Parts: sequence; structure tokens; C-alpha cells
Amino acid sequence: MMKSPVEFFKTLQKKVCPECGQQVSEQAESYLMECDRCLSKKSE
Ligand SMILES: [Zn+2]
Repeated sequence: MMKSPVEFFKTLQKKVCPECGQQVSEQAESYLMECDRCLSKKSE
């Protein structure tokens, strides 16, 4: 029961942010996995 929600969403083959588990809005030619929120957190 300790399975992370991220793993669950992966099985749905939907683009989900590996950081927070949020579903990422699909963007053509987008190679990024993280959602905007996590991306802005990473970028300095
Ligand atoms: Zn995120």
C-alpha cells in the first residue's frame, strides 16, 4: 500500500510529473516530464 501515485499514473500512460504526480498538460514536441511548477522550481 506504499506504492507511490506516480507509479500508478505511469500505468495509465499519461504524462505525469514524476516530481509531484500532477498530470502534465500534453505539449507537442515537449520533452519535459515535469509540470510547470516543478520546472520553475528547478530552473534558476
Ligand atoms: Zn510537478
